[in-house]
Amino acid sequence: MNFIPLAKPSISEEDIENVTIVLRSGMLVQGKNVLILEKQFTEYHKMESAIALANGTATLHLALLASGIGVGDEVIVPAFSYAATANVVELTGAMPVFADIDIATFNISFDKIEEKISKRTKAIIPVHEFGLSCNIGPIVELAAKHKLIVIEDAACALGATAHGKLTGASGDFGSFSLHPRKSVTSGEGGVLLTNNKAAARKIKSLRNHGIDPDKQEMDFIDAGFNYRMTDFQAALVLSQFERLNSNLSYKNQIADIYLSEIKNLAISLPVTPDDYFHTWQTFHLMLDDKISQKEAIVKLREKNIGTNYGAQCIPALTYYTKKYKLDVKKNFPNSFKAYTQGLAIPIYERLTKEEAYYITKCLNEL
Ligand SMILES: *Cc1c(COP(=O)(O)O)cnc(C)c1O
Repeated sequence: MNFIPLAKPSISEEDIENVTIVLRSGMLVQGKNVLILEKQFTEYHKMESAIALANGTATLHLALLASGIGVGDEVIVPAFSYAATANVVELTGAMPVFADIDIATFNISFDKIEEKISKRTKAIIPVHEFGLSCNIGPIVELAAKHKLIVIEDAACALGATAHGKLTGASGDFGSFSLHPRKSVTSGEGGVLLTNNKAAARKIKSLRNHGIDPDKQEMDFIDAGFNYRMTDFQAALVLSQFERLNSNLSYKNQIADIYLSEIKNLAISLPVTPDDYFHTWQTFHLMLDDKISQKEAIVKLREKNIGTNYGAQCIPALTYYTKKYKLDVKKNFPNSFKAYTQGLAIPIYERLTKEEAYYITKCLNEL
């Protein structure tokens, strides 16, 4: 068996062709593909605005800035996610307030959110972790009751649904990443959804050096960033977006193999609640105390299988430990457990079923 990496993007000959067309055109930035991509994202999600940005961290950052969040404010984030979810809050000067996750779904725990709401709370960033939607309805209701902004971090969950509702289309903002580890990629890229017209205008200005997006002549109304997506990146996304459904359905077939064939009693398998569609950005299983995560990663590497922990327990990272000194094991036991006993195994469009069975066999022998 050749080495099976943890992740591998699927780039077709047609994708390459579509990118090449843009490269040959000479219009590398601010061309028509970015506009078409934005239109497709608004239509797919039935939202008013979709704004293409440089990456999925920029999308979260601009959603916070467009909401006026800064020094003195608090933003509730899950303690288990990719570090970017909390880093963006730090970058605005606000304080991330961590809430533990439910160990069954790896998503932020509704009860823990409620406990963390204070007078300073301005927003919640629920993350649809590993491609499984949060139960977003009650979170949006709770936020409305307390007048909080909801920024859905759907970086991993393009196309995922809960009770028929697509991730990213319930909150004030829906944030997507187009990094190669996600279902659809532009290399680096992101898309931010919103129905808030004033926020959309502000975000379009901030992504483009603060230039007023509604005027013909250049008027610099903000001190902005350059958070734009290039047009050849947009062409790559558009090309891949057409295969989204087949990509997600293939990953569900791989997940079904894992769910039915992994029988090691020291491993717990991920749970998908009824009436949810999982996009399996990551297949994340839990090891019990008998198997060490580090040893499992090394043993599987020896069998030519790439695995890793799935996401970080953010308050346990050096920066957050130094700054907030939180008692992680006591306050975020599930997040800490997922960080130290979780294991992400390969799942992607180019993974063959034969490879999936081989991975299963090796996991059963752990
Ligand atoms: C990938 C990811 C991000 C960051 O996206 P980039 O495009 O890499 O900046 C943010 N949040 C979550 C949950 C992610 O998985």
